[in-house]
Amino acid sequence: MGTILAIANQKGGVGKTTTAINLSASLGMADQRVLLVDSDPQGNSTSGFNIRDVAEGYTLYELLLSKRTLEEIRRPTEVPGVDLVPATTALVGAEIDLIQINGRERALKQSLETALAQYDYIVIDCPPSLGLLTLNALTAADGVLIPVQCEYYAMEGLNQLLKTIEMIRETYNPDLKIQGILLTLFDGRNRLAHQVADEIRKHFPHKVYRSVIPRNVSLAEAPSYGKPALLYNIGSTGAQAYLNLAQETLQNGKESVG
Ligand code: ATP
Ligand code: MG
Repeated sequence: MGTILAIANQKGGVGKTTTAINLSASLGMADQRVLLVDSDPQGNSTSGFNIRDVAEGYTLYELLLSKRTLEEIRRPTEVPGVDLVPATTALVGAEIDLIQINGRERALKQSLETALAQYDYIVIDCPPSLGLLTLNALTAADGVLIPVQCEYYAMEGLNQLLKTIEMIRETYNPDLKIQGILLTLFDGRNRLAHQVADEIRKHFPHKVYRSVIPRNVSLAEAPSYGKPALLYNIGSTGAQAYLNLAQETLQNGKESVG
């Protein structure tokens, strides 16, 4: 049975998509079968894997509304073993159309049922909001991976997200774990970044991944080539950090960090 990991933080630009792409690719390099589900209408995971010719009607939107099967929609990526369910701006409509549906929070969970036997990891890239798409991801997930940018306001958003996770546990998904908090965009020369990282570790002991993702130009450049960092510049500190995160994920197995 595959493990479903939701990558979530309602704060924008904290490295959710960068983590979704590079963790998926790194798990694929470690011989894991991975399905990356782009659950953001921005479609950044889709373009980040150079999938640009998505036909209308063949996206996560149709999967969520049971109009097509996973087999019809998923696409192979350049990394062996890694498939992707693409998103386009059409996914904006899902937030509205799902409201009409009974059990609307469970649509993604149901859509992914057949995938569980076919993949080791199903990674869901969430949009920067706590709307219905993120609720669906948290309802489907075994664990949530929370990327946090090491900056002053990081903690504020985190508390709101943790409240949402608690609500999801009480209502839709009692077994949801916090897989780990991932420190991203870390600039070691910046004293504030160290202070914030220390504070997060103090606040959430045993919940923060040992792997820290540095601010690294290869991670920022790779998507414009439609590649994960390890196919763009495997020697970069960014690609290496995500390879370490994949190893840590495998070591933790189905257990959370804490
Ligand atoms: P959104 O909330 O809009 O979905 P996000 O949380 O998915 O954003 P990303 O798209 O991964 O965040 O990252 C935001 C921007 O920062 C992107 O331009 C990305 O290339 C860049 N970026 C992310 N992580 C790093 C990093 N470790 N080093 C350098 N640039 C990074
Ligand atoms: Mg994103």
